[in-house]
Parts: sequence; structure tokens; C-alpha cells
Amino acid sequence: MKTIRVAIAGIGKIARDQHIPTIAANDRFEFVAAVTGHQAPEGIPGFRSVPQMMEAMPDIDAIAICTPPRGRQTLIADSFAHGLDVMIEKPPAATIAEAASFLPMAQAAGRVLHATWHSREAAGVHPAKQWLKERTIRRVECNWKEDVRVWHPGQEWIWEPGIGVFDPGINALSVLTKILPEPMQLRSSALRFPANKAAPIAADLEYDHAGIPVSVAFDFDQKGPQTWDIDIETDDGSLKLSMGASKLAINGEDVDVGEEPEYAHLYRRFAELIDSRTSDVDLTPFRHVADAFLLGKRTVVGAFEE
Ligand code: NAP
Repeated sequence: MKTIRVAIAGIGKIARDQHIPTIAANDRFEFVAAVTGHQAPEGIPGFRSVPQMMEAMPDIDAIAICTPPRGRQTLIADSFAHGLDVMIEKPPAATIAEAASFLPMAQAAGRVLHATWHSREAAGVHPAKQWLKERTIRRVECNWKEDVRVWHPGQEWIWEPGIGVFDPGINALSVLTKILPEPMQLRSSALRFPANKAAPIAADLEYDHAGIPVSVAFDFDQKGPQTWDIDIETDDGSLKLSMGASKLAINGEDVDVGEEPEYAHLYRRFAELIDSRTSDVDLTPFRHVADAFLLGKRTVVGAFEE
């Protein structure tokens, strides 16, 4: 199989924590260049734009977009225009309209677009979906609570309008919309905004899933143990996904779902999509975030201190 020569745009936390080590551990990929406004990682050529990179290195095959969601359109358009297959980090864009413009661009250019949801690649997601298929769901509760200071230290973009706690929250929505058999409809949304920020630090969302309640709580100010849990009661037992859906328990008993890390799975999938010339784009979790703002009742809470 041909090695996929991949570039990364945006050498920040997720590029360094996950993309670079995952590519290094995967024989199908080689990390060959960076599009960066700063210093490229040691030994990797850095470029200020995709056109500059492709002029110098025309044999690059693909690019992983790891910049914040706002401001990706030029990067993505340039990537398709220069014949690259494209993987984008979640959330896909700043707006629904912008996110929806990416797949037509890929199709017009004959390239592959992988709009990723890394939490959907967690080891418990597929077995949970299979288990739920054969049961009737009675109740769903999701608690996704983490400390923004730990996961997004000093990041200004996280507090831009439309993001805040939905940056991790969209991961929970990506799992819920993958494992639940029917579409969810938002019924109520309560958003808490820090007095000094333009984005919410917490959200309480109530959905209807074919007549069944789905309660979702997001908090970006969680000190101590972090919580990324989904609990589901059915007519035939209960299911718990924890640790961001990497762990699964049925009726309180742990289930062995393997240990493959999310990003290893993600890059395996990207290679499959490239080989089969297929795009994978599902904007459902992102639409739910937009709905949370449409129905959102806003309250202002104390100022956020980093
Ligand atoms: P980050 O640490 O702030 O890095 C983003 C990088 O994008 C920057 O280092 C910079 O790269 C580039 N960039 C371009 N325009 C920028 C702008 N206006 N503001 C800030 N950076 C800009 O962010 P991150 O945590 O890696 O998150 C990037 C994406 O990955 C987001 O969509 C996020 O949701 C997703 N993600 C993050 C995590 C996490 O744990 N942090 C987990 C999963 C997914 P250069 O220095 O190379 O110019």
C-alpha cells in the first residue's frame, strides 16, 4: 500500500498530543510538512499557507486541519484546490453554512473529506450501539464535565461566540447521535455565560428521543475528577459509557471493549476513506449545538478566572 504523505495545519495542543504521535505510530502515514504561523516541529518543513507548501512539496497527499474551527475555509478550499484529501478536527467550522460548504468543495475537486468526531472512535461506542439495537430505551442521561483550564490552557479561541463548553460538549453529542437509534430533538436549553466571556461555560439540555427523555449536562468548570459519562436505562438492563466512551459497563459489569486509542482508530478510518475514495461527513452533532443556541435561555454567572 502506498504511504500517505500527510501535512498538518495548526501545530497546537491536539496536533502535538494526538496527531503527530498517532501518525508516527501508523505505517500508512508519514508526517511530512506543517502549515503554521509559528515554528514547525523539529525536522519538519513549515509553510505559511497551503499554496506555498504545495509549490515546494507537490507530492503531499493529505492534510489534517487542526486549527480552531473559526477561519478554516481558506485552508480547506486551498487544500482541495491543490489536490489534497482532507481530515478536519471537530467542530468542523464556525457556522453550519460554512461546514456544509466543505463536502461540495471536496466532490467538485474529486477529493476525500473526513469530518472527524474523535469521540465516535472511542472503543465503547460501537459495542454500545450494537447492544442498544436490540432493546427499548427508557431514559438517557449524559454528564460531560471537565476543567477548561486543563484541556484548553490559555486558549482565547475557546471563548469565541458559539464555542465555550460546546467544544467538549459536541463530543458527547457525537456519541449520543451515533449510538441512539432515532434522531434527537431539542426541547429546552439553559446556557450559563461567565460575566467576562462571550461563550457559555455550562449548558443543561433536554431532548426528546422518540418519546424518551434525554438529559444532557455540560460543565467546563469541573474541578477534581473529570466526568465524561452516558447512562442509558432500557427495558432489559442498563448501559454506562464512561471515560469519554472508552469504557463500557452493562448492568454494572465492565465489558472488555479493547484498548485502541481514539486517534489510532481515526487515522485507520482516514486511510480506509482515502483508499476507497469516500468522504465521511455528518454534521448532526454540530446542528445540535446550533439548536442549543437557538433555544438557549441565557443566564450570566461569575467571571471566569483562568
Ligand atoms: P490550540 O492549542 O489553540 O492550537 C490551535 C493551533 O491552530 C495553533 O497552535 C495555531 O497553530 C493554529 N491557529 C490558527 N489560527 C488560530 C487562531 N485564530 N487562534 C489560535 N490558533 C490558531 O487548539 P487545540 O486544542 O489544538 O484545538 C484545535 C482543534 O482541535 C479544535 O477544533 C479543537 O476542538 C480540536 N480538539 C482539541 C482537543 C484538546 O484536547 N485540546 C481535543 C480534541 C480535538 P500554529 O502555531 O501552527 O500557527
